[in-house]
Amino acid sequence: MLSIFLDFLFPPRCPNCRAYVEQRGQFCPLCIGRLIGLHALVRTGDTRVYLDGIWAFAHYQEGVRDLLRRLKYQCDRSMLSALHGILAEGAAVIPMLPHPLSAVPVPLAPERLRARGFNQTEEIFASWLSEHGIRLSPLLTRTRHTAPLYERTRAERRHELRGAFAVTEDSDVRGKDFLLVDDIMTTGATLTECARVLKTAGAARIYAFVLASEHI
Ligand SMILES: [Zn+2]
Repeated sequence: MLSIFLDFLFPPRCPNCRAYVEQRGQFCPLCIGRLIGLHALVRTGDTRVYLDGIWAFAHYQEGVRDLLRRLKYQCDRSMLSALHGILAEGAAVIPMLPHPLSAVPVPLAPERLRARGFNQTEEIFASWLSEHGIRLSPLLTRTRHTAPLYERTRAERRHELRGAFAVTEDSDVRGKDFLLVDDIMTTGATLTECARVLKTAGAARIYAFVLASEHI
């Protein structure tokens, strides 16, 4: 009842171009075509060594970038329905993954988690993963603060991240397959370091999902 009333007062619009759409949180067909779509990312160097596959659900541009920024920096959780809608387009990847599989969110630095009150990656992926029978297992932690990685070279990023993550105590990852999840991928240095830590602890295959990639 409330949603009918809300739709009447504020008809649902595309979060990118403000065109009218049928459901709240939905992108319009034009914006879906340009910004959203499951795609495998090319792995090079270390990323190829430690990650067995990476998929992004959207491009980190325009409305997708704005939704993520508002969720992260203004803690605006009303962005989540549109972000969940982006994932809905990506169910085709499930048959390509091994089962059983546990999803591991890339952990936030403790001070950032305290300030924000939530890990945006968990908020974005939790319900979608649960719908597809993939358990969310937060078994990586940050062991120290890392400096911002933007405007760094690939080698500098790798150096900055080395030793910044660890498998939580009591977690036995040996022989198991994992799916790393993160909100954005830029160079892949963070995902690669997380995968390296898991594989060093004995994990078998590591895949990764990111909501949005800066690579086209
Ligand atoms: Zn649109």
